[in-house]
Amino acid sequence: MNLAVIGFGNAGGKVVDKLLAFESNTGRSLCRFALAVNSAEIDLAKLDYVPRDNRILIGQTDQRVKGRGAGADPEVGATIARQDHHEIERAMDGVPIHDIDGFLVVAGLGGGTGSGGAPVLAETLSDRYAEPVYGLGVLPSADEGGRPAFNAARSLTSFTEATENLVLFDNDTWRQHGDSVEMGYDRTNEEIARRVVTLLAAGELDGSQISEAAMDSSDVKRTLATGGVSSIAFASSSLESGTREGKGLISRFTNGHDEDRDESDLTMKVHGLVRKAVKSRLTIPAEIDSAERSLIVVSGPPSEFSQKGMRRAREWLERETDSVEILAGDDPRERADRLSVAVLLSNVTRVDRIDALQDQAVDAKSNIQNQADTREDEIDDLITDDSGELDPI
Ligand code: GDP
Repeated sequence: MNLAVIGFGNAGGKVVDKLLAFESNTGRSLCRFALAVNSAEIDLAKLDYVPRDNRILIGQTDQRVKGRGAGADPEVGATIARQDHHEIERAMDGVPIHDIDGFLVVAGLGGGTGSGGAPVLAETLSDRYAEPVYGLGVLPSADEGGRPAFNAARSLTSFTEATENLVLFDNDTWRQHGDSVEMGYDRTNEEIARRVVTLLAAGELDGSQISEAAMDSSDVKRTLATGGVSSIAFASSSLESGTREGKGLISRFTNGHDEDRDESDLTMKVHGLVRKAVKSRLTIPAEIDSAERSLIVVSGPPSEFSQKGMRRAREWLERETDSVEILAGDDPRERADRLSVAVLLSNVTRVDRIDALQDQAVDAKSNIQNQADTREDEIDDLITDDSGELDPI
């Protein structure tokens, strides 16, 4: 499918930059238009792929912001998104609306600009355009502390309500000890891009031969049209054993016996990859039998596809998810050096990580409240002597 993609805040901009980098490295076409919106000038300057004219600084006239960010306060993020909506809408006039299937608004939900601003933008876009508005939200890691959890839990509610589907990525699930924060983010942003582009770019032709069961962007749209939140599964495998075309040459000299074996190898490979994807780390861990609809995309050289493997994989996923709403298709990429599988689990309703985030947020809320209530007294206590002997000047 073709999307207009908007990164809101620092994480939002960086993830969109990675989507564009991944597209460009793999010859895909997903983002027909890319925009980064932020309240911190320095973060916009760090992007590599979002065109300079499509980087919008908001909140410049707001006394609390002045080009230096929203101070991790989502109320500020939401306010400046509303105040400067004309500027954002002017930038959106560049969207080739007849060419896109929808919008994708991307943000980290634990901060201020994206957490508060992304839901506001998503709502504005939904009101203004007929095309669906999807969200991609990054949840903070639990060890970032109570305030990011509090911001994210609040934003999650409004972002989900403002979008047709909110795909989540959980930093907590993907953090790796030993990485510096920036290195860790760079790696996780690549993981996000690989999954999102493999899944959503399906159906866009790149000159590869069209296969029997090519995915159509209307299939992707249908699967996303559930509301709620979604998770993406992914697995890939190298083609080191050679492509079927290469092996086909050999099998002509062996009366085709190898061809039968190759067919069953490919069936197993495709089916196995789908199982592996669903059993591996999802973008956010979820109980897969709570998904309303699913979509399987197999992407790679068409010589590696197996319709039988795909059928078996779909039947297996039907049993695992207890749902008959499963679409499957392939995405031919002649020049790809791997066979990749992305599975969208749409509208998952049992997600422990969200419950944990909400618990952490509720605790944080009461701590923030308690601190606010006692702060005045504590300051007073600190700056006056115990016996009240001293007079201020
Ligand atoms: P904002 O600019 O005020 O929207 O805030 P940030 O985007 O800087 O941070 C919001 C949250 O996003 C943080 O609490 C982190 O959980 C997360 N985050 C920040 N940068 C990145 C990034 O590059 N990648 C990922 N995966 N998460 C990030």
